[in-house]
Amino acid sequence: QGLREDKPAREVTMPTVSRLTHPERVLWPATDDQPAITKADLAAWYERYAEALLPYVAGRPLALLRAPDGIGGQHFFQRHPMRGQPDSIGSLRMPGQPREYLRIDNARALRDLAQISVLELHPGGAPADAPEWPDRLIFDLDPSEGADFRTVRDAALELRDRLGALGLESFPRLTGGKGIHVLVPIARARKDGSGWEEAKQFARLLCAMMEHDAPDRYTTALAKKARKGRIFLDYLRNDLLATAVASFSPRARPGAPVALPVSWRQVQQGWRRRQAFGPSAIHLPDGLKRTLKDPWPDLDDAARPLREAMARLVRRQ
Ligand code: ATP
Ligand code: MN
Ligand code: MN
Repeated sequence: QGLREDKPAREVTMPTVSRLTHPERVLWPATDDQPAITKADLAAWYERYAEALLPYVAGRPLALLRAPDGIGGQHFFQRHPMRGQPDSIGSLRMPGQPREYLRIDNARALRDLAQISVLELHPGGAPADAPEWPDRLIFDLDPSEGADFRTVRDAALELRDRLGALGLESFPRLTGGKGIHVLVPIARARKDGSGWEEAKQFARLLCAMMEHDAPDRYTTALAKKARKGRIFLDYLRNDLLATAVASFSPRARPGAPVALPVSWRQVQQGWRRRQAFGPSAIHLPDGLKRTLKDPWPDLDDAARPLREAMARLVRRQ
């Protein structure tokens, strides 16, 4: 599916009240081992996981992956308000940007997102009160073709250790796709000026050092051809307008895998012997049968100033 930015759905008018139309509409067709998943299931998911999801998405710029006809139909990313959208969806200003960005703040808005067939939630890395000051970094570990998921796990663990040595605590998330995200909460430091420029530099430098030390395993090359068999260390998620999928967001991929925060022990050991541990092993229906828990709901408590970590990193070079 080609993703296109912001196709305006001019002909569609949106309800401004919370109600679910066409609850039986199939958004994820059945697969060999997953049942068909409907709009009612999606609404049930957002209701069940509102409390888990909102800390990741509320009060931030939020991009929405919409697929009105399900994953087999057209997808589009919506980042800006559109006419007729549910009134629970708000907006915010980003510095230097002429258009407003979307934001949501509560469980009612999540329900409305099910109504307009939002399959994935992609928040930005800074709260809406001052989007120029990030409060988390994201390292997006992408296996290229031929790279085993085990090597992604090793990369995540190595990144954890390197961050730890710089005084930063980090938290892993299985993306529901092919890789792992490593989240790093950072103190928002208006006074010392750790804005996106510093966040970007830090992420790029750390990834470049990993690549330098193990060029056979890691790459930061943007050209796909140069990546083969390696883990692409994608540091580009750290920018004012960049996003990453939210923890507990479903994914618009067959069977509706979900982006799932996990503990480092789980990354190291996997789950149980009989269950395959992988980046997309848990699906939306699994999470409706039993409630999935966030192993680190208080990650912001671990936030440390980036400036100190940066100083250590530069010394190490
Ligand atoms: P995977 O584990 O399969 O890589 P992912 O969510 O990390 O899953 P990426 O392609 O690595 O997928 O993208 C990382 C993040 O960048 C996404 O979660 C999304 O927020 C953002 N992103 C990627 N492609 C686009 C796009 N075309 N439009 C908007 N945002 C995008
Ligand atoms: Mn990725
Ligand atoms: Mn990526």
